[in-house]
Amino acid sequence: MRRKTRKIFYGNVAVGGDSQITVQSMTNTDTRDINSTVKQIKELEHEGCDIIRVSVKDIESTNALKAIKKQINIPLIADIHFDYRLAIESVKNGVDGLRINPGNIGSKVRIREVVKACKDYNVPIRIGVNSGSISKEYINKFGGVNEDAMVYSALDHIRILEDMDFRDIVVSLKSSDVYLTVRAYKKMAEEVDYPFHLGITEAGTVWKGTIKSSIGIGALLLMGIGDTIRVSLTGNPVEEVKVGKQILRSIGLLKDSVEIISCPTCGRTEIDLIKLVTEAEKRLKDINRPLKIAIMGCAVNGPGEAREADFGIAGGKGNGLIFKKGEIIKKVKETELLDELIKEINKP
Ligand code: SF4
Repeated sequence: MRRKTRKIFYGNVAVGGDSQITVQSMTNTDTRDINSTVKQIKELEHEGCDIIRVSVKDIESTNALKAIKKQINIPLIADIHFDYRLAIESVKNGVDGLRINPGNIGSKVRIREVVKACKDYNVPIRIGVNSGSISKEYINKFGGVNEDAMVYSALDHIRILEDMDFRDIVVSLKSSDVYLTVRAYKKMAEEVDYPFHLGITEAGTVWKGTIKSSIGIGALLLMGIGDTIRVSLTGNPVEEVKVGKQILRSIGLLKDSVEIISCPTCGRTEIDLIKLVTEAEKRLKDINRPLKIAIMGCAVNGPGEAREADFGIAGGKGNGLIFKKGEIIKKVKETELLDELIKEINKP
């Protein structure tokens, strides 16, 4: 069961409550370079990114936000560290969300000004505590970098906003340690009803980071925890979105495309199954309705193992069977299997 949370809005995209779990990413261009930033955001949009964050490190970056916002279709979040003026300018320039920790901005007067701007423009704030940047005060108080230090540090930031009657809050508690991240979110889930932004920070390069993120984010989602996710990879952010979407699809939290079920192959396999599945993935990727397609190596176990699939192939020797809902409908040559399968899928 999904954890009950408040619902907040980044522009017209809802996060939390009963809304679809969203996938977000962050650009790695210089935000001041408007063309490159917009180009990258467009690529991410194309891959299905729901929300995008950009780093705002100076006033020039805040000026670029207006032009960027005009050219993109997804909500834009400004990532700011420490400087309250950049936060206010970003809000005025049209961002849909801020990522800033109020406890790091300085005096109450400054925080109040940021909160006022966010209230005036309906802009939510994400409070993000990363295990790597917890202040010494919390590390000493809680005996090290642990879930208590993370949660209570975040709670102190949250209370600052609540004291100013601001509750459009999203919370993240990231660590590069999967266990620690899971423990921190679980603990925080008992404390507040704000939506959670999930992520394993600094997860690594595409292959390793994908596995690590899938375990951490996946474990939390399976517990019903998490409302928006960001996979952090050392690589092209497009990969982050691909992985994020696939994490959601893998556990049935996103049903927007074809799911291919394929067997691992074994001594019974007599067709080039790996080539067939790779080709099928390419040719079926633009179907944007939920369909389960099974591509199995043999007719002995294939249709039976894939009974739940809408369509499927079971390989034979130089040929294969096409089946629909577990029932065999035709036998065709190996070279024609994929074309025939696609024909069946496209039948009205
Ligand atoms: S479906 Fe057939 S070929 Fe594939 S792993 Fe199972 S037994 Fe082997």
